Amino acid sequence: MAGGLKTSPLGVTQTYRWSMGRNNGRLGSPWGMPYALDPCAKREPPMTEAKDMEAMLDSIGSSEPHEVGYIPVAVSARHVHLSRATIDRVFGKGYELRTRSPLAQHGQFSAEEKVSLIGPGGRMDGVRLIGPPREHDQVEISRSDAIRLGVDAPIRQSGDLEHTPRITVRGPRGSTAIDGVICALRHIHCNEQEAARLGVVDGQIVRVKLAGHARDVTFGDVVVRVAPPFSLQLHLDTDEANAAGVVSGDYGTLLLSQS
Ligand SMILES: [Zn+2]
Repeated sequence: MAGGLKTSPLGVTQTYRWSMGRNNGRLGSPWGMPYALDPCAKREPPMTEAKDMEAMLDSIGSSEPHEVGYIPVAVSARHVHLSRATIDRVFGKGYELRTRSPLAQHGQFSAEEKVSLIGPGGRMDGVRLIGPPREHDQVEISRSDAIRLGVDAPIRQSGDLEHTPRITVRGPRGSTAIDGVICALRHIHCNEQEAARLGVVDGQIVRVKLAGHARDVTFGDVVVRVAPPFSLQLHLDTDEANAAGVVSGDYGTLLLSQS
């Protein structure tokens, strides 16, 4: 695996990983495909040096956005949540999904099962299912995937599925057309204690800076989702992660503006 040491603009020495070397240039999933790591993988956050802390403290009270804490990144590759009825149609009546690995967000798991997605413009095989079954089908893809499949997937929060495009899902026992195709609005999961520590509330829109990966970028329009079972993570899709040069287990910095 290619790798080395790199000093970030904050003066923090981090292990630098070249994704092309690690992945042999293939794009893929934290849930089983070659590119990304296990989204549950834990790494230590970068150390905050004294001069960085001074700069953080200086920015508080000014009108500039200030840095309030590190957020671990988890990259979500394309995946599918299916309802019981759809699982019955494509895997057979009463089929039970098998757990491949648990996800950091409580109770969810990456399943062994995969399906094909067939849109008007193209097809994608080997798309991972996330369990357990949900009340509504939901297909989460990147904008690049949407272009390849020929569907105009809107950018939405999970569960906000009104007027979403249809796509055909094919499994070993059949295929069916479902709606619920979205590009997930980037978001931070956290529980109430973490939200209080960071000074954020459910539904708040924040910004996260991703620096130190040779493609510094600050993402706005990041929605905070606070619920008891969540653990602190910034969820990005593969387009977003690749644009910022980050992989699962890297860290972003939460930025809050003074009101
Ligand atoms: Zn999420």
